[in-house]
Amino acid sequence: MTLGLALRQRGIECVVHEKYGHYQSHRTAFLIWSYAAAELANLGVPMASVAAPLEVLEVHGRKGSTICQMPVGRISRAHGCDSYEVNRKRLAQTMGDMLGDALVRPSCCIGAAVDGDRAIAQFEGGGSDAGDLIVGCDGAHSVIRKVLHPEADLELFGSGGWIAVLDEHPPGLEPNRQMEFWQPGIKAGLADIGNGECRWYVAMNGTVPDMKAPPSIDDVRAAIPNAHPTLQAAIDATSDDQLVLTQASDLLALDPWFDNRIVMLGDAAHATSPYAGMGACTAIRDAVVLADMLAEDGELTTTLQAFQDRRKPISDAVIKQSRNGLDMSASHSRFKAWLRDMKFSHIPDKAMEGIVESLVCEESP
Ligand SMILES: Cc1cc2nc3c(=O)[nH]c(=O)nc-3n(C[C@H](O)[C@H](O)[C@H](O)COP(=O)(O)OP(=O)(O)OC[C@H]3O[C@@H](n4cnc5c(N)ncnc54)[C@H](O)[C@@H]3O)c2cc1C
Repeated sequence: MTLGLALRQRGIECVVHEKYGHYQSHRTAFLIWSYAAAELANLGVPMASVAAPLEVLEVHGRKGSTICQMPVGRISRAHGCDSYEVNRKRLAQTMGDMLGDALVRPSCCIGAAVDGDRAIAQFEGGGSDAGDLIVGCDGAHSVIRKVLHPEADLELFGSGGWIAVLDEHPPGLEPNRQMEFWQPGIKAGLADIGNGECRWYVAMNGTVPDMKAPPSIDDVRAAIPNAHPTLQAAIDATSDDQLVLTQASDLLALDPWFDNRIVMLGDAAHATSPYAGMGACTAIRDAVVLADMLAEDGELTTTLQAFQDRRKPISDAVIKQSRNGLDMSASHSRFKAWLRDMKFSHIPDKAMEGIVESLVCEESP
């Protein structure tokens, strides 16, 4: 939907086909860092009404006490735009409304091919649509990726957990704040996402919940028996049917991202695990960069190669950072966790600003 809005803003006609007729059956939320939030705001997305600006990211170490507070709000605004904790369904609904008739749903793509100077997408039910270019923005289980790379498969790395969105705040969760909890073997978090709602997650390092059984809050309690009281209150306020199971996987270094008149972006091209909290931000920036490059009206193959050359090093770095992120925040080694807590609790203000800057801005590797 970012790509659809960005192309329209640049005067390029486009149709967005979406598989589902509804916006998310599960309720989930995510953090959109300043650089990606700015792209959405530039497209006219009213961020403040779908999300909560994040002021402080507070990290709790292995013993539960605060080891650092990251001034996300101040540094984000210094770069021109807040970072936001976002209810995904609300964001998708808002952007879907903005797209209007340019969004066709439900419309499930099952294949794509090129015939001369036309790219043709095929849809379930026998329909098709044709244009100058097909852009596969169809996520981690992309159909378009299967067309370009039939052999490519997501790498599961044996870690997973649970997420939930609640209509309330547990006592102790301040507005505009995210609390992270780095415990041996577990990374967990809890955040204000605006509109009176909060989100929480519990991720296990090296363990996956039973993905076939219905999710159960008792399994979450068993995974994190000594949760911080504020997180515990959020877990206790969650019913089984509000839980969403997650299992981490990624796909590093897929190449090329395009062939002829078919190209991919976002998780389709570079699926990432969630531990860096950047996959959606990278996908949003991909979309705007591609729209900018297509608007320049150069030769198509040259444009698509330039797009990949610019975006692939960044997305590969995010995938690696995310792989390392879980081990850093949820190491099973008590010694490593102690060392990490010591380091984070003694970071000078200037160095902490640098760390936050590297999150709120998209850095070239
Ligand atoms: C638990 C978890 C937490 C995360 N937290 C963060 C975070 O805090 N910040 C962050 O930046 N990233 C986060 N991510 C990563 C982020 O969710 C993804 O990287 C991002 O959603 C990828 O965007 P995308 O548009 O490429 O794919 P998606 O968001 O998956 O969107 C793909 C769209 O294509 C549609 N589609 C799929 N197949 C078809 C088809 N065949 N035909 C038509 N339509 C189709 C889907 O229905 C969907 O609407 C998290 C991921 C997880 C799992």
